[in-house]
Amino acid sequence: MTEAAATTKTAMPKGEAADTQDLTDGFHLVIDALKLNGIETIYCVPGIPITDLGRLAQASGMRVISFRHEQNAGNAAAIAGFLTKKPGVCLTVSAPGFLNGLTALANATTNCFPMILISGSSEREIVDLQQGDYEEMDQLAIAKPLCKAAYRVLNAADIGIGVARAIRAAVSGRPGGVYLDLPAKLFGQVMDAEAGRRSLVKVIDPAPAQIPAPAAGARARDVLKRAKRPLVILGKGAAYAQADEAIRVFIEKSGVPFLPMSMAKGLLPDTHPQCAGAARSLVLKDADVVMLIGARLNWLLSHGKGKTWGEPGSKKFIQIDIEPKEIDSNVEIVAPLVGDIGSCVSALLQGMGDKWPAPPADWIDAIRAKREENIAKMAPKLMKNSAPMDFHSALGALRSVIRERPDAILVNEGANTLDLARGIIDMYKPRKRLDVGTWGVMGIGMGFAVAAAIETGKPVLAVVGDSAFGFSGMEIETICRYKLPVCVVVFNNNGIYRGVDVNPGGGPDPAITAFVPGARYDRMIEAFGGVGANATTPDELKRAVDAAMDSGKPTLVNAVIDPAAGSESGRIGNLNPKSGLKKK
Ligand code: ADP
Ligand code: MG
Repeated sequence: MTEAAATTKTAMPKGEAADTQDLTDGFHLVIDALKLNGIETIYCVPGIPITDLGRLAQASGMRVISFRHEQNAGNAAAIAGFLTKKPGVCLTVSAPGFLNGLTALANATTNCFPMILISGSSEREIVDLQQGDYEEMDQLAIAKPLCKAAYRVLNAADIGIGVARAIRAAVSGRPGGVYLDLPAKLFGQVMDAEAGRRSLVKVIDPAPAQIPAPAAGARARDVLKRAKRPLVILGKGAAYAQADEAIRVFIEKSGVPFLPMSMAKGLLPDTHPQCAGAARSLVLKDADVVMLIGARLNWLLSHGKGKTWGEPGSKKFIQIDIEPKEIDSNVEIVAPLVGDIGSCVSALLQGMGDKWPAPPADWIDAIRAKREENIAKMAPKLMKNSAPMDFHSALGALRSVIRERPDAILVNEGANTLDLARGIIDMYKPRKRLDVGTWGVMGIGMGFAVAAAIETGKPVLAVVGDSAFGFSGMEIETICRYKLPVCVVVFNNNGIYRGVDVNPGGGPDPAITAFVPGARYDRMIEAFGGVGANATTPDELKRAVDAAMDSGKPTLVNAVIDPAAGSESGRIGNLNPKSGLKKK
């Protein structure tokens, strides 16, 4: 659709001199500003005051995906940002809808995913005097501490610059979530169409390259060259950067073993000879030089210290990150490289010359031995064709699905379902594994699955625990409505962590972690015209998922898992505080 078509032609009464005057309004300016900047998709839940914005966006040729709950729309926008390096846009109504979307915005910011939450809001005059407007809330003030930047636009003529600021804030430097507050009155504001067009801003070079200082590169190479037991840790920042080829060349040229964080799996295949994923404990404990590429030393890496990391003082850290404040966040970084990952890795490579020394053979051999030992130990568990299934046998089947379909996108959430799938399902290509991220948050499942299908057009396999599924399960209607090639596998062990707990008080209520036993989640999707299947063995599971992936039809497979399988909080049960009182 042309720009002119997005403006309104207002007819003057017949016979007047200026027969027509081209006008535009806030609705059209928001849409034009997004489209001018290459944003073609909006994830939303319609309602007052943004219903017409969604309609007009759809009329203008944008893809507008309408969800059942804003948190899922927000999660979809966030992961769209991760996958495309463009801010994903989520559109919500005021106050409650805004708050529902805010969880996703905060989560996006925590994970460094670029996203813009656009919410309609009530009138400033009434909100600021607290006179009780419809859905009254000072949304801008509430959003501010939870995102990277927050802006409000009051005049139609400022929409262009407001959208431009939001886009640049979301994707430049460390990416994150941005809030854009658009009061209801703004949408109806009318202005001259030509002036409106001129007010729009196309953001030039929204995420400029950030080149590291040459001395920083030399310092990092020096530390790496002297290492006896080097290790590279690849994080989701490296996956986001889309510097896949430079990273592969650097890893292979250096010969350094690498450990992918969960969403960096597949940046190089998990089956790559240098992948130390199956020897994780060994490499973290014994490495003497650790190079972090787009990974933070947060709780997921035990803050770079403690038992996991072996003897105190036994390690030197090199870190590549775009955010200068990340350096020295938890431990001393002897060689920081501040810049974007593509530029930093290229700078490192340039100085490596033709003959870079391979890491000592005893280190490489020790890792290989450990990896082979661990893989052999795991193999029989993955091949058991038992009923009921346990996590390993069910995941063994899904592991084969991904091996045979490396282009498929795997969405993964849950406790045991997450922790075990992360280790068991090998990934082969970059940005194919999407999961609970930095917060370990439940509820990303269906939002991520929808956006993964929309943004990539590839088949999606969502492997989710029965508890995790509950947070976003209603979006299977969305998946059916948009006919998305998504296969959801619910690992159903009748409860949170496991399904066998009893009420410790002995009363009639079930235990807080127990769900309805023997529930049939597959029947939910049938209500919306999708395909449901019940799988009680790994063979049945594999067949059902293969059929779904071949057909591209929205499918939900209820995978019956032994209710006694599963441990409290999966692998992070140690984070549960214990009662300070001594047991009698
Ligand atoms: P993981 O959870 O996989 O360990 P984190 O989310 O903790 O990864 O870390 C990602 C890091 O990557 C963040 O510190 C972020 O600043 C950084 N980052 C994101 N994008 C880029 C980029 N393009 N270049 C450099 N660093 C980046
Ligand atoms: Mg469960």
